[in-house]
Amino acid sequence: MDDLWDAIVVGLGPAGASAAAVMAGEGLRVLALDRGPGTRKACGGCLTEKVAGYLPPGWRNLALCPVYEAEIEAGEVIVGAEVQRPLGFLVDRGRFDDFLRAEALEKGVETVTARVGSVAEERGSVRVVTPRGDYRARYVVGAGGANCPGARYVSGFRHRAKVVGIAGELPLPDGFRPGRIRLIMGLTGYGYGWFFPRDDVLNVGISEHRLNARGVEAVFRGLLERAAQGRAVTWVRSRLIPCYDGRRRLSRGRVVLVGDAVGLVDPLSGEGVAYAVSSGFMAGRAIIEALGARTGSPFSGYRLWVQENVYPEFRWASILARVIFRVPRGFTALMKKRPELLAYYLELLGGRKTYRGFAAEVLKNVGGVAARRLFPVAP
Ligand SMILES: Cc1cc2nc3c(=O)[nH]c(=O)nc-3n(C[C@H](O)[C@H](O)[C@H](O)COP(=O)(O)OP(=O)(O)OC[C@H]3O[C@@H](n4cnc5c(N)ncnc54)[C@H](O)[C@@H]3O)c2cc1C
Repeated sequence: MDDLWDAIVVGLGPAGASAAAVMAGEGLRVLALDRGPGTRKACGGCLTEKVAGYLPPGWRNLALCPVYEAEIEAGEVIVGAEVQRPLGFLVDRGRFDDFLRAEALEKGVETVTARVGSVAEERGSVRVVTPRGDYRARYVVGAGGANCPGARYVSGFRHRAKVVGIAGELPLPDGFRPGRIRLIMGLTGYGYGWFFPRDDVLNVGISEHRLNARGVEAVFRGLLERAAQGRAVTWVRSRLIPCYDGRRRLSRGRVVLVGDAVGLVDPLSGEGVAYAVSSGFMAGRAIIEALGARTGSPFSGYRLWVQENVYPEFRWASILARVIFRVPRGFTALMKKRPELLAYYLELLGGRKTYRGFAAEVLKNVGGVAARRLFPVAP
């Protein structure tokens, strides 16, 4: 245990596995600590192409169900369209995480099952405390999700996640076609529900701001009943989604945060896997460079990458979320009236258009006074 590792990764979800694999692939000695790898997580299992560039090529061999059709429902208003290129891929989240972990182990990452209690720097290294003993490393990647102990060290306090998510799965009921997803708006005050049918499974879920969380479980049960047609539910899980708020520190000294540990989740769609994998990859690369160059500020490039590539879009997603979740019927009716706006929105969901561009498209389609009320800043 007195070994000095090059890097310790706290949490072996998509963010941690991605960071661990990239570092071990370059010959670093990497230890990954996870409290219970392989535990099923609440997730819709929807991945977009944003994730593709950061994954090992074998991910295409996972059972991926491409999404070619999407419907949006808000009360009695329903709008839908097919797309030429898939909006994303539906996948069994458990299998996806297993695949990433297996890739990390194959690259030489060592693992220990242990719940990390705390992380702190001391004399040029970082100590990671667990009930099974302490571990030391030159650098630590905090990838422990919404309640990561690494985040407590970096921020000095515990951030509260803003959104609650519940998901469950059941055998595919009649009337659902694999790859035709439905987003259901206006079920609660600030969030949305979904039906994600893939192969022989239906994933049902809901996300909602924690301030409105009290009634969410009942709404989720209603969604399940609507879909299930008497079929037994295989599993249900709930979890916090720590969406972006723009104020979090990304690193402190030798500790860097990735994925949910630092709130890298799209505040409108709840997409987090792509950001977990890409931030893990970028933080891993930063540690490889820091160990080679032995320079002072190892994570300035990583911070810049997040600030330039992730945060600007999250800012626009936050603004749009306020509009779309507050007037879900108006928004859905507008897209019904303007199919080109719907087409743009679907491309956006697929990660091929930007939120900023979408805000500009919405502005073009609503009058001046309404536009100024909707968007305090020009896109
Ligand atoms: C209901 C719901 C639906 C979602 N649907 C989607 C979707 O369809 N598409 C999408 O892209 N995103 C979705 N997300 C978001 C996505 O699941 C997360 O953004 C993603 O899992 C983040 O990955 P991560 O590796 O940062 O964290 P996690 O996946 O949470 O992994 C963290 C790991 O750290 C471990 N850990 C935690 N604490 C400790 C500790 N103290 N010590 C040791 N180990 C620890 C855990 O066991 C876990 O393995 C959804 C989220 C929810 C809640």
